[in-house]
Amino acid sequence: MIIDGKKCSEEILENLRKDISEYKEKTGKVPGLAVIILGNNAASKIYVKSKIRACEKTGILSREIILDENISEEELINEIEKLNNDKNINGILVQLPLPSHINEKKICEAISVKKDVDGFKAENLGKIMLGDDDGFISCTPQGIIYLIDQLNMDLHGKNVVVVGRSNIVGKPVASLLINKGATTTVCNSRTKDLAGILKKADIIVIAIGKAKFLTKDMVKEGAVVIDVGINRVDGKIYGDVDYENVKDIVSHITPVPGGVGPMTIAMLLKNTVKAFCKEELVNGN
Ligand code: NDP
Repeated sequence: MIIDGKKCSEEILENLRKDISEYKEKTGKVPGLAVIILGNNAASKIYVKSKIRACEKTGILSREIILDENISEEELINEIEKLNNDKNINGILVQLPLPSHINEKKICEAISVKKDVDGFKAENLGKIMLGDDDGFISCTPQGIIYLIDQLNMDLHGKNVVVVGRSNIVGKPVASLLINKGATTTVCNSRTKDLAGILKKADIIVIAIGKAKFLTKDMVKEGAVVIDVGINRVDGKIYGDVDYENVKDIVSHITPVPGGVGPMTIAMLLKNTVKAFCKEELVNGN
């Protein structure tokens, strides 16, 4: 019933740890991930800390780069350039959100496509649409698909409804589901009769940022519900799903926390190892 993203992510990290340790024994080399964080945003610091901790668990070398939030766009791009040219770094992540004087799109495009382990660059997003798995699939959508894959469902002929159309979750996850043959509907805040559309869904993926939005009356009995939302209310974290209410009528559901969140980090590390392996192949190793 409950899709345990925490357990699943721990298994992925353990497999990565084994692979990295074996390769290190043979060659002395390990993958490297650089995480840039600007300023003192408390939530960003928590996310970065969990990414660094996961690197430590798996043996990935992590480098946390803390910069002043007043840094200019040009200076930040220079920092990224240095990391693009650093042989010990395979993945570069700039923790979002950025201060308003910095253009996120420009920063994202400054990262080398070979080190874009967040999968936010146009080239990597385009590859998702084309079904080309040579690129880096953005971490949250990749984690969602990984969890759905664990259910061994044939998605052909299934109605999947994705609620939310952001570039980092809704759109890429919808493309991945389309590639798997699911009949995919993408909804947004202006969708008419959202409840009616949701009621016909075999699988719901919801990423809107509204605590407990999805209620029992919107869900078909036996559906699968993937809750991407992370909403802080009075110091507690809630998903976009009214979990306590919905969990009794669905066949499978992800909890928040402990569902999609830990999978996002696991996929970031998986992408970093993929970047490392590609580089090692280029170098003839
Ligand atoms: P965005 O704010 O970029 O997008 C939200 C989307 O939800 C928009 O498309 C918006 O519609 C839609 N929406 C908002 N309200 C409604 C509504 N009432 N009915 C239907 N659609 C609605 O959000 P993100 O994709 O960045 O994030 C969504 C949530 O997922 C957040 O809670 C975020 O914290 C979480 N998240 C979790 C991650 C994880 O690792 N678990 C990773 C990334 C995000 P419109 O386009 O019309 O405005």
